[in-house]
Amino acid sequence: MSTNGNEKHVKVLILGSGPAGLSAALYAARAELAPVVLTGMQLGGQAALTFTIENYPGFPTGVGGPELGELFQKQAENFGAKVEFDTAHEVDFSKRPYKVITDSGEYKADTVIISTGASPNHLNVPGEVELTGRGVSYCATCDGWFFKDKKVVIVGGGDSALEEGLFITRYASSVTVIHRRDEFRAGAILQKRAKEHPKMKFILDTVVTEAVGSDKLTALKLKNVKTGDETIFETDGLFIFIGHTPNTQMFENKLKMSDLGYIIVNDKMETNIPGVFAAGEAADPHFRQVITSAGMGAAAAIQATRFLEETESS
Ligand code: NAP
Repeated sequence: MSTNGNEKHVKVLILGSGPAGLSAALYAARAELAPVVLTGMQLGGQAALTFTIENYPGFPTGVGGPELGELFQKQAENFGAKVEFDTAHEVDFSKRPYKVITDSGEYKADTVIISTGASPNHLNVPGEVELTGRGVSYCATCDGWFFKDKKVVIVGGGDSALEEGLFITRYASSVTVIHRRDEFRAGAILQKRAKEHPKMKFILDTVVTEAVGSDKLTALKLKNVKTGDETIFETDGLFIFIGHTPNTQMFENKLKMSDLGYIIVNDKMETNIPGVFAAGEAADPHFRQVITSAGMGAAAAIQATRFLEETESS
């Protein structure tokens, strides 16, 4: 990295420090490109908010999300990657080197790998915003502990809902999963585990229409989508796991994106701008696993290396 005042020039700038970003950093570092990773707001990305990851190969009994993130980081740093606690706000991809404005200043980058991940979706019902942090949460690992011997509701029917619901059974007296359909999207193993767990209960074909409480959550208003029946359900906690939205707002009108906001990449992780690559959940509406994000990150870094070789030799 070369520095000129507050402006730094790097060969490979990686935006985001989840599995995609840190895997890209490992590969770019081993290609001796001295990559710089900007952590973004969440070091380790969403994986670092997961208590145990059971499907990342090499860890037969599972591995803690934060621990896996630290291992990724250490391995990349061992080969020369630099991880900066900094967040990008604005990019200019109109000419190379590309410009990235961050909290701490400005980077000029010969290549950029975007691995900014995704953020949890909100229900958008009355009371949700006001009661966030007062009973409403989007992170079981962060907040599960606060619900010792309390009643908790989970909303969602995917892997996250059931996995995080099972995690909260460590603390809560009961965990009720409320799902808008009568079938779960989650994988078979998780469904079986959840259905067999004595603390887990299920309310199906039902949506939450309001989070109720003044200074803390006390109940939810529910509506059965088939019968239209409305009920009140008393609860101390509401954990919402209804999918994610990619963190790509910064790239609107700068890169080609899908209608849902995912950055469009080809099979080499190339975006429509030469030298700008994307990997992980910011560019993946299909798989969204730690292993697939890590693989995309590695591929992006290999392609960035080839791109630099080609442009530097021409
Ligand atoms: P997801 O698979 O997209 O599931 C979201 C769930 O929320 C769906 O059941 C959906 O209902 C429901 N939902 C969406 N919008 C809603 C709304 N407005 N109101 C009520 N319910 C709503 O999301 P995810 O569970 O976060 O998983 C994301 C990805 O990560 C998936 O690919 C998943 O396989 C992966 N993941 C894997 C693991 C694992 O392998 N252990 C763990 C966590 C996540 P419908 O079903 O009716 O659409």
